[in-house]
Amino acid sequence: MRAEHLIWIYVVLGVGSMTALALFEEYRRRSFNPPRAPDLVFRCRQCSLVYTDDPGVERSRCPGCGVTNEPYDFR
Ligand SMILES: [Zn+2]
Repeated sequence: MRAEHLIWIYVVLGVGSMTALALFEEYRRRSFNPPRAPDLVFRCRQCSLVYTDDPGVERSRCPGCGVTNEPYDFR
């Protein structure tokens, strides 16, 4: 009887820790791999057009008037 209980506790702990580990791995994977960097938002200083461009670019040309603009910082 007692040995049977110990086996059950062992099984429950084993399954429980496996589940916890899997959840932790999933959580860690998500926090380390964000889906994709969001596009940069630009606001033209000449015609006030708001447009986006690929992340990583330092300057982008306004599709409306062709003026080169710096990324618009929301913060
Ligand atoms: Zn413009």
